[in-house]
Amino acid sequence: MKAVVIHAAKDLRIEEREIEALEAGQVEVAIEAGGICGSDLHYYNHGGFGTVRVREPMILGHEVAGTIKALGEGVSGLAIGDRVAVSPSRPCNHCEYCLKGQQNQCLNMRFYGSAMPMPHIQGAFRQRLVAEAWQCHKVGEKVSIHEAAMAEPFAVTLHGVNRAGALTDKRVLVTGCGPIGALAIIAARAHGAREIVATDVMDAVLLKALSIGADRVINVASNAEQLSAYSANKGYFDVQFEASGNERAVRSGLEVLRPRSTVVQLGLGGDVSIPQNIVVAKEIEMKGTFRFHEEFGLAVDLISKGRVDLKPLLTGIYPLEDAVAAFEAAGDRNKAMKVQLVF
Ligand code: ZN
Repeated sequence: MKAVVIHAAKDLRIEEREIEALEAGQVEVAIEAGGICGSDLHYYNHGGFGTVRVREPMILGHEVAGTIKALGEGVSGLAIGDRVAVSPSRPCNHCEYCLKGQQNQCLNMRFYGSAMPMPHIQGAFRQRLVAEAWQCHKVGEKVSIHEAAMAEPFAVTLHGVNRAGALTDKRVLVTGCGPIGALAIIAARAHGAREIVATDVMDAVLLKALSIGADRVINVASNAEQLSAYSANKGYFDVQFEASGNERAVRSGLEVLRPRSTVVQLGLGGDVSIPQNIVVAKEIEMKGTFRFHEEFGLAVDLISKGRVDLKPLLTGIYPLEDAVAAFEAAGDRNKAMKVQLVF
């Protein structure tokens, strides 16, 4: 089978790999669609992120869906021919965090396509993936394989919503409208948010944000004053989903959040400075959110039942052979939202 392998920054190759042996409790999935994530782009553009660097060839990818081709011994509830979204979250289920139900914090996590541990955890951009049956979630008949492959980034934002707490009747600010910010808008809407205002610095992505459920969008590069107007009377928003990783988005968010509101940090921009006086005086709760675990099933369910429509986020589909072109396209925020490979 062929796989998409990163060797170093800007060194992405299509290589032959052996299909893994199928063991009891596992299924073999013909991967049909795989979305390129921000972390895949970091590996491609910079060879890693933060202190994490690619130190050996690694198959990229963790947003995948496909069709089951073979069943291992003892697998029930799945059949050959089933179309499934595959959760890349593979916790050990034995460590202290797993036992507390915090599988996303697992000490021995084997998340697909991660260069954090050595040896690296090989990813899922490959023609055949042998996965545990419990990772595979059957999708509805009307759901395209491309929507199914968006269950993973959607689960990221559903976990963000869980971190925020109940959103019913809440006023929500989403800063940064890339794929995760856009999915956060959809997730917040599905969870009863009263009003959603979204910001970015690019009109193209803001138009998309408007079309998928934001009530109002603000280009903070050209119209920053429209956002600052919400700072009157100590602020307006109950919850901010910060999906840009940008320091200015963090600061301006704190100014327009109401007392005792919550910031959920989804974006990763490295070190930023925080105005402590605002956090203290307005008693703001700042929360991180990292990956997901049980939310993957909810993501597949909401997609399968047509409760959310993620199709508008898909902006490009490339064959495996054109992986380099796909990665280049995915890095261009002007043109691309979610880019997928087909295998
Ligand atoms: Zn664990």
